[in-house]
Amino acid sequence: MRFDIISLFPESFTSYFGVSILKRAAEDGLIEIHTHHLRDFTHDKHKTVDDTPYGGGAGMLLKVEPLAEAIEAVVNSKQQVASEEKKRVILFSAKGKTFTQADARRLSEYERLILVCGRYEGVDERVAENFVDEELSIGDYVLTGGELPAMVVVDAVARLLPGVLGNSESAETESHTLSGIVEYPQYTKPEEFRGWRVPDVLLSGHHAEIAKWREKQAKEISEKRNNRNT
Ligand code: SAM
Repeated sequence: MRFDIISLFPESFTSYFGVSILKRAAEDGLIEIHTHHLRDFTHDKHKTVDDTPYGGGAGMLLKVEPLAEAIEAVVNSKQQVASEEKKRVILFSAKGKTFTQADARRLSEYERLILVCGRYEGVDERVAENFVDEELSIGDYVLTGGELPAMVVVDAVARLLPGVLGNSESAETESHTLSGIVEYPQYTKPEEFRGWRVPDVLLSGHHAEIAKWREKQAKEISEKRNNRNT
């Protein structure tokens, strides 16, 4: 899968994508991540990407022209995939649909995701209206830019792609694979740390009992969590 990220701060992505599973996935050719600097799509001397909002108000908005040009250039680039349906343009926005594991799974079916990061007070609305397929939020809070949301989406989607995780089972049995259900608690060595012991059942070697205990724990924790979040 190919990810194209349009941002005013493409350097923010280097360290996160340069380590661990995502780095290996890129080296193995399972994912490609390309960043595009928004200023490269301006034509004035000052490479202007923002301006004041019509009607007044605080801060600056990203202008429609460079974003439109950047999205069109990236969408129509020669690495373009054959079918229109296989790519999706996403704008990060605090007012977008809240991103979930179900969205990660849905987006993992595309061949190409084009991710657009806002900054400052946000983005001229004509971008959302005319150049993107969907707006996504990563939660009900406001960040300074869409770069963290882009990292979140790339990470959550990439790890669902075949071959990216070492153990293909781990993505199947994790939290949120079923909506509203989170994982049971897990422990590793030592058996005891400062008097806190690993639950006996996990040391018993009794697989059926362990499975029963895990299912019960997952159910209880999920219920508590769902009550807390409503
Ligand atoms: N004025 C906007 C509002 O009240 O909704 C907030 C703009 S925010 C400071 C700047 C940019 O950060 C947004 O255009 C968006 O790309 C990104 N952003 C901020 N919070 C976000 C969130 N929760 N999810 C996704 N993107 C977010």
